[in-house]
Amino acid sequence: MRTTLKAFLLALFLLVLPALPVHAFQPKAETVVDNVHAIVGPLGQRNQENDGSNANFGFIVTPQGVILIDSGASKLGAQKLEAAIAKVTDKPVRWVVNTGSQDHRWLGNAHFAGQGAQVIALKRTAATQAEFATQHMRMLAGFLGPRLAGTQPLPATTLLEGDEASVELGGETLVLRYTDAHFPGDAWVWLPKRNVMFTGDLVYVDRILGVLPWSSVKKGQKAFHALEALNPKRIVPGHGGVCDLAKAKRDSGDYEDFLANVIGKAAQDMEPITEVLNRHMDLPRFRHLLNYGDLHRANMNRAFVEFEAP
Ligand SMILES: [Zn+2]
Repeated sequence: MRTTLKAFLLALFLLVLPALPVHAFQPKAETVVDNVHAIVGPLGQRNQENDGSNANFGFIVTPQGVILIDSGASKLGAQKLEAAIAKVTDKPVRWVVNTGSQDHRWLGNAHFAGQGAQVIALKRTAATQAEFATQHMRMLAGFLGPRLAGTQPLPATTLLEGDEASVELGGETLVLRYTDAHFPGDAWVWLPKRNVMFTGDLVYVDRILGVLPWSSVKKGQKAFHALEALNPKRIVPGHGGVCDLAKAKRDSGDYEDFLANVIGKAAQDMEPITEVLNRHMDLPRFRHLLNYGDLHRANMNRAFVEFEAP
């Protein structure tokens, strides 16, 4: 009797399974403060459902038009952001400001530029975009397949000089400053009037930050301490939910401190790498972060190598 019931339920389950709809990720805007909005992307890997836009974006609605912060990983990703903005305002996107050179930060630029938007970034951000374009397009082709069609890599064209630059757009002040943490030339966008910080890929919450071969823990730690000094009220991290400074510190700042002060210090003290990594594999403070199991050891490894260098 029981076996029959189980078999029946299994048959029913198998019957229903293929009919489950594929939930394509549809970005949705949330208000951060006043006219400042965030679009929080999913925490998982790039895929066809999210069109590679597994990251956060933001926009500011001004009387003169919309300022978009980062443009998505593909043409379709950019169109999804555009649709999310259109639910909040009918004003056009007049400016796109890029915080970085990783795919999801800028590969939607051409879509908005095609509609007359000006694409703005610090000079080295744009240079790194050009440098990584081919590599990112190749990698995305693997994840997105035909959904990458129509995507044109367009590095920012309005380039800002200096390590920090202020721009006034539509009556809003945006302060861009290099963080150089996840990718060289990464920057944050600080809105001093609103007390809101768009960190770019400097801060990850809910999900562990990734140290890539070209990332810098030294620069990330320094940048996070500079961010703390500004005492932002609201933070839109590169990945994970909109948060306050305390959470950004717990999930990213403290981890950067650990990588630099513990792992980096051990490297400078010329301790054996394997022993150091083994000793710090299980950290209760950070192990709740998504991807901890996949990334933590590699992160420590790269931090060690960076601090080992003279
Ligand atoms: Zn990212």
